[in-house]
Order: sequence, then C-alpha cells, then structure tokens
Amino acid sequence: MFDKEKCTLCGECLMKCPYLAYPEEKAKKEFKKLIDGDPTPVTADCITCAACNMFCPEGANPFDLINDRQEETGTFILNEQTQNFFKAFSRMKSEIIEGEPGKPVMNLCIFGDMLPGVIEGQLFEGLTLLKGGDYFDYFGLIHAGTPSVIKDNAQTFVDNLAKIGAKEIICYHDDCYAMLVNKVKEYKIALPFKPIHIIEYLRDYVKEHENQIKKLNIKIAYQQPCASRYTFEKDTILDELFELIGAERVNRKYDRLGALCCGGIQGSMVNVSKEVEEEWRMKNIMDAKDAGAEAMVFLCPMCILGLRSRGKAQGLEPYIISNLVRLALGEKLTHGGAGKVFE
Ligand code: SF4
Ligand code: SF4
Repeated sequence: MFDKEKCTLCGECLMKCPYLAYPEEKAKKEFKKLIDGDPTPVTADCITCAACNMFCPEGANPFDLINDRQEETGTFILNEQTQNFFKAFSRMKSEIIEGEPGKPVMNLCIFGDMLPGVIEGQLFEGLTLLKGGDYFDYFGLIHAGTPSVIKDNAQTFVDNLAKIGAKEIICYHDDCYAMLVNKVKEYKIALPFKPIHIIEYLRDYVKEHENQIKKLNIKIAYQQPCASRYTFEKDTILDELFELIGAERVNRKYDRLGALCCGGIQGSMVNVSKEVEEEWRMKNIMDAKDAGAEAMVFLCPMCILGLRSRGKAQGLEPYIISNLVRLALGEKLTHGGAGKVFE
C-alpha cells in the first residue's frame, strides 16, 4: 500500500524506473500528479514491474499508488486476449492430488499443467498437489492494472488453502508467496498455515539429499519474476541453493535490484509496439549472454514462455529452477529444462 506520509516527492521512483527513466523534474512533477489524482502518462505507460517499490528510499511503495491509479483511470489497457487469459485463471478446474501422509503440500496454482515435464521426479513424489482456480492467488492482477480484484479475492484464496488443513504450504509460484507473505498482511488477513517458498523447499531438499547431488559447474543467468520485488529477502536462499548445486549466478546488470520484467506485459499492452517489446526482451537475453551465462534459470512459468526460445537462440539453455535441481540430482528431463525440447 502506498504510504503518502513517507513520500518526499523526490522523484527517484520514476527516475530509476527501467522503462520510463524520467529526468528528475519530470519525475517529481508526474509523481505529484499521481498523488493528487491528476491525469499523467505514467498510468498508461508503466509496465507494472513493481521495481519502483524497491527504488523508493523512503519505503513508500510508489508502484502500489500507480497500480491504484491505473485501475481508477482505466488508462492501462491490455489486449483482449490477455484480458480473457486473466479471467480464465479463476475458472480453471480445481483438483487436489492426494499425496502420502506426512509429506508436504504444494500449491501449483494454475501452473500445474502449463509446462510438460516439470512437475515430475523425486522432488514432487508423495506431495499433495493443489491445482486450479480455487488455488489461484490473483496476485498477477497487478499486471492487469486491477489491484482491487486481488484484495477482493484474498480471503477466499486463503480460506481455500486453509481447508487443506496443512501447517505449511509450499508455493510453487512466486506470486502465490508474495500474496501470502506480503499482501495478506496489508489486508490484515490471518494465515492459519505457514507459506514456504519453493526455493526454500528446494534448498532444504538439496541439503537433505546432499549425497545424491553432483555439482553442475554451470554458469547461469537468473530471470527474477516481478513478484519477487515483494519478497526480496528470499534472494539469499536462492544464492545458497545455486551454490549447493554448483550453479554460478553470473553478475549481470539485469539481475537482483536491476532485474527486468520478462516482457510479457509489454507484449500485451496496446500502446507498446512489437519492436519495443522485442528490444526489451533481447537486452535482457544479451545481458545474460554477455555476462558469460550458459543457461537461463527461471522461477516463473510465464517468464519461461516469453524468453526460453529467444534465450536458446543465443545459446542459453532454459531451465525452470526445479529442473536444474533435478539435473543436479541426476534425473533425466523428459521435456528439456523448461517444458520444451529444442532440436
Ligand atoms: S512499476 Fe516498473 S514500469 Fe512502473 S513505474 Fe515502477 S519501475 Fe517503472
Ligand atoms: S514514492 Fe518514494 S521515490 Fe517516489 S517520489 Fe515518493 S519518496 Fe520519492
């Protein structure tokens, strides 16, 4: 939630924005308009990456204000296909795949069947898996410019998960974790279970199965999802996991604080040209390549869909993070590293 009391109108948020990159005076002026509720091009042009929430030196959460104004003004417009895509998520058939007693519960959200050959192998054996619209977290609706829909559905989402009766629930999708760790606090919703990020699950699994791990000795570029801006503290666990499996996270411009959105939203915004979208995606890929990476590692299935082929064409083998761990465990990947076998 935007905290107006903390905002000093310094303009840093819109100056450091990797997409808008306004000069100082313009940044201050346009942010003041956002506060006052006056029209500003920011609402139509912001790509909803949430990075400015981290750039604000006062912790005022400027993106949350921008997102509210996007909804109020209706100026942030996605193509019809993407709008329908978002609507379809909550209607997806739900399913509980019962696992073995005593084994963890994992929420796959609406991503369980999106990428073939990803939810398989020993990491997932015996887990109780939750799939479908009942377990959709709605956090991604920040990218539809409709934050009120996230809030309106938060309690139902938590209640559906709570019905499982588990003390802990592993979040397969980064958005799910951001919702349960960050947004529900803002909405003052009590959680009757503890959310565990899949990165933490993987780190602990690797530690417990250290004798099975064969270090990969691979240089990787990491594609950070936008939702990680809300739970950045887990980045140290990610570094630990990479070290345990012998994956060297290359130092590059577009990682950690400097990470770029995968480009999926630009591709859906009616006021962004294909050329601009392509240029955005490729500067991320080329940054990874130039930093010496051999592979690109993803946490979010949506980032994979937008970047895996482009990365592969530049010699970067794509992996969803669990498949990279499976590789270190000596497993065969039936559908490549990220749900698609490249010939
Ligand atoms: S959310 Fe991203 S694109 Fe939008 S203003 Fe903030 S940093 Fe810029
Ligand atoms: S939200 Fe933060 S970064 Fe943006 S103008 Fe206010 S204080 Fe500065």
